[in-house]
Amino acid sequence: MTKNSNDNEHEFISFEPNQNTKIRFEDADEDEVAEGSGVAGEEAAQDESMFDAGESADTADVTDDTTSADYYFDSYSHFGIHEEMLKDVVRTKTYQNVIYQNKFLIKDKIVLDVGAGTGILSLFCAKAGAAHVYAVECSQMADMAKEIVKANGFSDVITVLKGKIEEIELPTPKVDVIISEWMGYFLLFENMLDSVLYARDKWLVDGGVVLPDKASLHLTAIEDSEYKEDKIEFWNSVYGFDMSCIKKKAMMEPLVDTVDQNQIVTDSRLLKTMDISKMSSGDASFTAPFKLVAQRNDYIHALVAYFDVSFTMCHKLLGFSTGPKSRATHWKQTVLYLEDVLTICEGETITGTMSVSPNKKNPRDIDIKLSYSLNGQHCKISRTQHYKMR
Ligand code: SAH
Repeated sequence: MTKNSNDNEHEFISFEPNQNTKIRFEDADEDEVAEGSGVAGEEAAQDESMFDAGESADTADVTDDTTSADYYFDSYSHFGIHEEMLKDVVRTKTYQNVIYQNKFLIKDKIVLDVGAGTGILSLFCAKAGAAHVYAVECSQMADMAKEIVKANGFSDVITVLKGKIEEIELPTPKVDVIISEWMGYFLLFENMLDSVLYARDKWLVDGGVVLPDKASLHLTAIEDSEYKEDKIEFWNSVYGFDMSCIKKKAMMEPLVDTVDQNQIVTDSRLLKTMDISKMSSGDASFTAPFKLVAQRNDYIHALVAYFDVSFTMCHKLLGFSTGPKSRATHWKQTVLYLEDVLTICEGETITGTMSVSPNKKNPRDIDIKLSYSLNGQHCKISRTQHYKMR
């Protein structure tokens, strides 16, 4: 797939894996390592000098016995994934604007930050005058968050609690505000939304605020012959050998990558809107109909899903979109390749339904069922395909 033509302008698009991007951290490709090495290098140098100066092993971070196996199961313990999220300015700046420009939501309030990571959202809230912030983080990053809170002089205001939101005891019966950045690829991958809903039902006061409070999933269709050839048809003949059994697997895995807006052939349709302040966990499983109208004569190789989130409690509506026409984010878009190439004429419609549900065995994975049909001048097709994000 071609990269978004605007990529070069944005420092947060530092990673462009030419492969299926799954877990945010696990995908580090060479570029990513090179990109991060400046910072990592500086830290290493710092640690060395501290050690040379005869500091205790505790001060210099030489007691860290974390191995790659730990990170494999808990990618959020490594700083790399947090660096990627913090450098996604569309994401982080939106949260900052929401908090700083709408202090009335935060000032003198008790705030719960679900999945605090480095503690960035808690720090924003503390700065905006929160009465108290509980920052809950289950990964090892919680230890860093504690240090960060202390280093910035907010230990009185922010309490970092290390543990799963489902397992910790909160030292307050109720909170006024729940803030969280829970969104995964295709909005729902990783299923962290459930943890936010759990916290909401357990601790949020009646009439309390959830930030963000709206999330929507959208669908469009693209021309993508070159990349489909490279990612899917590739398996037909690999150094002369038939590996097409892998092709079936590759087709089933939605691909996370940036789509150039010039590839878009149809209009976009809203699939589903979720109201985080009201919805139940089951609402994240749904079947939604769609109808995409071609805006030009072209071929369609894939459908593309993306999401937006909004903070409707703000004085002026704030939010961001991860769509191909918006500034790129680390969520990119999610591409679902179609078995058939659709030959579509301007004005013709693809109709269908998309069903989304957490996988029964592993609720962090998502099962997607896509049924579509086109009854066009040059192409008549009706098909159902299954995908699995994992
Ligand atoms: N709020 C931070 C981090 C967002 S990423 C920021 O905006 O930069 C989501 C974080 O939630 C990760 O650090 C992850 O470890 C944590 N997390 C996910 N599920 C959780 C749960 N059930 N309880 C506590 N933390 C959780």
